[in-house]
Amino acid sequence: MLIDGRWVAAASGKTFESRNPATGELLARVAEGDREDIDRAVAAARKAFNGPWSKWKPAERQLLLLKLADLVEQHIEELAALDTFDMGAPISRTRNNRQRAVGMLRYYAGMATSLHGETIENSLVGEIFSYTLKEPVGVVGAIIPWNGPLTATIWKIGPALATGCTVVLKPAEEAPLTSLRLGELCLEAGVPPGVVNVVPGFGETAGAALSSHPDVDKVAFTGSHVTGQKIVQASAGNLKRVSLELGGKSPDIVFADADLDAAVPGASMAVFANSGQICSAGTRLFVEKKVYEEFTDKVARFAKNLKVGNGVNPETQVGPLVSSEQLDRVTDYLSIGRQEGAKRLSGGERLTDGDYQKGYFVPPTVFADVRDDMRIAQEEIFGPVISAIPFTDIDEVIQRGNATTFGLGSGVWTRDVSKAHRLAKAIRAGSVWVNCYQAMDPAVPFGGYKMSGYGRESGKQHLEEYLNVKAVWIKTA
Ligand code: NAP
Ligand code: MG
Repeated sequence: MLIDGRWVAAASGKTFESRNPATGELLARVAEGDREDIDRAVAAARKAFNGPWSKWKPAERQLLLLKLADLVEQHIEELAALDTFDMGAPISRTRNNRQRAVGMLRYYAGMATSLHGETIENSLVGEIFSYTLKEPVGVVGAIIPWNGPLTATIWKIGPALATGCTVVLKPAEEAPLTSLRLGELCLEAGVPPGVVNVVPGFGETAGAALSSHPDVDKVAFTGSHVTGQKIVQASAGNLKRVSLELGGKSPDIVFADADLDAAVPGASMAVFANSGQICSAGTRLFVEKKVYEEFTDKVARFAKNLKVGNGVNPETQVGPLVSSEQLDRVTDYLSIGRQEGAKRLSGGERLTDGDYQKGYFVPPTVFADVRDDMRIAQEEIFGPVISAIPFTDIDEVIQRGNATTFGLGSGVWTRDVSKAHRLAKAIRAGSVWVNCYQAMDPAVPFGGYKMSGYGRESGKQHLEEYLNVKAVWIKTA
């Protein structure tokens, strides 16, 4: 693990295994952090925050981020391969992360020299000048899931470096390798000791120690809503700030007037990309009745043609699930869907032939005739499973689309501009994608409504999450 600029073993001496979900092969033994390691990392982060790092000028932090961006770009093949080995995503996908990963770092670099407070006219009697300062919030505890290790790590480290915070990052136990390699690249870029610390370990131990730590000023968490609730409870001790990027059960709504040839692959990959292990996946596929049968048949045909396999094969479009726990969770939902009476149009069972036997492979699955009250229409599966639901009119689909405890992503497929605008306003979710799905950009904020969390990542809102606002009053007469 990386603490205070040095590579160290866990205080306990313990390690855990990281395995390849496509083959079951052992990739590495990783230092298993726990409370004592978190204490050391937080102390290093505090020392760095108060030390020379606090004197760095915005332009110096900008250069550091640009250098890190260059290093990530130079090592993108290696970082993409690490993601593929460690969590299974197809190499075609992890390679494609280049623009996003490097783009985020360059965006935060730009933001580093754009932070500013305001001068504010007040109405007090006499002459009192008032202005605000934007100051880094301090030591940030970052906790991430396994579904996109490279970009998730950068999403937490980038804004910290831009604002002058320091970080203790706990990667997910299922996929810690890319975060550790990024820690090395941070050192190579010249990130001072203690500014970025990476402590792998388990959620119940290292994660809990970090989120409850009295000297951590903020926790930036990405993961499930259940863990998010625990993070909020753990934060109460010192009332640290919390931002939460949680899960979803996002509606993707296809009107009969849509360009169906574009909507079929669009709505399919809104779920099957990354084997459905995407928080904002459009898993509740609402299709207007007039085209319901035609459309769901086409989606099922598309699903059956996707190439499922080991992510290292450049042809692979759908890789394995990340772990045996995730496999159990997803196959449980496949049987729940059958028991609830949904009609299976494609997939539906774990793949076990030949090499599939070694990994955690589930084929793209389409359930049709799903009712709103079924569990497969309400609960986040986090696997390649579409629940297709018919609807008849726009008011009805708005009401039903919003009838979920989540509010992360949403999609609308239509050629009618007024329908597009109506839906964009009416859907209670942090992102609405019209005639596309899952578009992401470093400058555009992303985050949740309702139980999908609070706070935003990307965009100028993201930087605010890492800043405190201080009001200054100066009596001049
Ligand atoms: P998770 O179980 O909530 O785990 C997320 C992280 O929290 C892991 O590092 C985990 O450690 C840690 N953790 C677990 N229990 C903890 C505790 N008591 N205290 C502190 N940390 C704890 O989620 P996951 O299964 O890894 O990821 C899937 C979930 O993440 C889905 O719900 C998905 O929607 C959500 N997600 C959201 C976004 C977004 O941007 N909104 C992006 C990706 C994923 P371990 O190493 O022990 O697992
Ligand atoms: Mg986990």
